[in-house]
Amino acid sequence: MTAATHILEQSIVVFSQNYLPISRVNIKRAIVLLLTGKAEPLAMMNVPVWKVRSPSHVIEVPEHIRLTIKGKERTWRVPPVNRREVLRRDHHTCQYCGSTNHLTLDHVVPLSKGGSHSWDNVVTACERCNQRKGNRTPEQANMPLLSHPRAPIHPTVAFAEQFWREHQIRQE
Ligand SMILES: [Zn+2]
Repeated sequence: MTAATHILEQSIVVFSQNYLPISRVNIKRAIVLLLTGKAEPLAMMNVPVWKVRSPSHVIEVPEHIRLTIKGKERTWRVPPVNRREVLRRDHHTCQYCGSTNHLTLDHVVPLSKGGSHSWDNVVTACERCNQRKGNRTPEQANMPLLSHPRAPIHPTVAFAEQFWREHQIRQE
């Protein structure tokens, strides 16, 4: 029973028809895609295959599957620069000290100094850092940023980047 539960918790990487890693689904979803012919196993070296038994048959589910149908391309736009989206991009972490408490938004170059309300000029900052920095740039306040702010990228591109990074680590 525990083994079966463990299998059902596995996630499967879905590749597009063009062999681009696009998302992760749970094994149940992967089985549905395989059984309905919407996906096929994608053979990669050194990748485990899980055997899932139903009363009538055993189905082998590899860690990677490839869609045999054209995936629906959802339109995606760069999200607006607001508290919810900026905090999400910055993983709910102050970009000056790393704190995860009392978070606010900070304009890297203050608006009063010509800074804009844009993805590359707005970061998550805790109240303390925001107050300490005041109406100054990070250089003036001697408070270097932990990351270089940029607009979020298309989720599919972000997923592919992450996938290949992990894949590289595994092969090393
Ligand atoms: Zn802080």
